[in-house]
Amino acid sequence: MNNDKTLNEEALEYHAKGRPGKIEVIPTKEYANQRDLSLAYSPGVAEPCLAIQANPEDAYKYTAKGNLVAVISNGTAVLGLGDIGALAGKPVMEGKGLLFKIYADIDVFDIELNTKDVDEFVRTVKIMEPTFGGVNLEDISAPECFEIEERLKKELNIPVMHDDQHGTAIISSASLLNALELVNKDITKVKIIINGAGASAISCTRLYNALGAKKENIFMFDSKGLIHPDRTNLDGKKIEFANNNMPIDTTLIQAINGADVFVGLSKGNILSKEMVKTMAKDCIVFALANPTPEISYDDAMDAREDIIVATGRSDYPNQVNNVLGFPYIFRGALDVRASEINEEMKLAAVRALAELAKKPVPDIVNMAYSEANLSFGRNYIIPKPVDPRLLTSVAPAVARAAMETGVAKFAITDWDAYENQLAK
Ligand code: NAP
Ligand code: MG
Repeated sequence: MNNDKTLNEEALEYHAKGRPGKIEVIPTKEYANQRDLSLAYSPGVAEPCLAIQANPEDAYKYTAKGNLVAVISNGTAVLGLGDIGALAGKPVMEGKGLLFKIYADIDVFDIELNTKDVDEFVRTVKIMEPTFGGVNLEDISAPECFEIEERLKKELNIPVMHDDQHGTAIISSASLLNALELVNKDITKVKIIINGAGASAISCTRLYNALGAKKENIFMFDSKGLIHPDRTNLDGKKIEFANNNMPIDTTLIQAINGADVFVGLSKGNILSKEMVKTMAKDCIVFALANPTPEISYDDAMDAREDIIVATGRSDYPNQVNNVLGFPYIFRGALDVRASEINEEMKLAAVRALAELAKKPVPDIVNMAYSEANLSFGRNYIIPKPVDPRLLTSVAPAVARAAMETGVAKFAITDWDAYENQLAK
């Protein structure tokens, strides 16, 4: 995946050292003596069991359910590695557990399912529902990921989110809103090229559409060309963005001419400097393929001066990174015992992220990036992952949206107290 030999070697050592793996289970109650144990387990434990039998909501009071998320994958689309299988994907799922914990104090059980069968996957997750407060689906290939998520959302009463679809959509939407604001362009008028028509591209484009981007101005490409209504080989959800405002045989080179926005969710090195030079004034290029973007940050910046560039990489400005979203989205959803993560909750996360980028940046963030003065502008359109205000900005926004849309089973009334509790 990367050619950095030292990094690769270090990664293996990192994972193997000490207790293998990246997360463990730690007791949260006293267990020093026999009395503690008879409360924690038999016979005392029967009382919370009976309470929950009488009132299932009490599971949130007496068990870990309300702070426990399942990160579930079948390993069919792991990072940029592809279908490496459930077991080989486990380091990624454990890593996701680590991120949930350090950024939002959410505990994770990572679950790797050895199946490509949609029915079997859905049924397995469904019967695990009692254990968890939420389900983060991860690294499942398209088009199966769409059906799996749709069915689980319908059949479960806890939040289900396929992060590869919606995480990217939320973070890139916040980035897009801010980039457009900086160049003073109206989302309803811009011409957008989406390169890639897989899980993340479809979900991103749906959210841009919800934020005002017009379908007739959006041109999507897969590996075979423009997504056009006359194409006879459109799988997955591609037909949703079929556009006949350009001829069916239009190439990316032709389509990008005069475009305001390019979003790449495809594969590395398919966009040239020359193509970027033909885009409209003040163009926006999100080259999000990982680990190698559609065009490198340096090449894109070099192509012209009036450009705003974002990539998925941490070593350049404007990193579109899912970690800005999922910990806080689930935090907010869990804290109001939401039954789902709906469109309004996602849009609330988008707006909270976009707004946060416009606020003065605390020293701790500047220091982490050895920057003197990060501030809203072409090189800072989205908050940095280390920003402690993400938790207190995004989680309450998501929780509030859950309450306002009637999917919360628990109401937060004192928002200041909630934010203080989060900040602790
Ligand atoms: P996916 O479901 O496999 O979709 C990949 C899409 O790219 C497919 O539609 C494929 O076309 C298309 N494609 C491949 N080569 C192409 C080409 N030369 N021109 C145009 N389209 C081409 O994968 P995904 O999960 O959506 O992820 C796609 C990429 O985005 C990956 O590199 C991933 O790492 C990256 N990503 C980045 C972030 C981030 O935050 N930075 C988040 C999510 C994903 P066909 O449908 O014809 O095969
Ligand atoms: Mg993923």
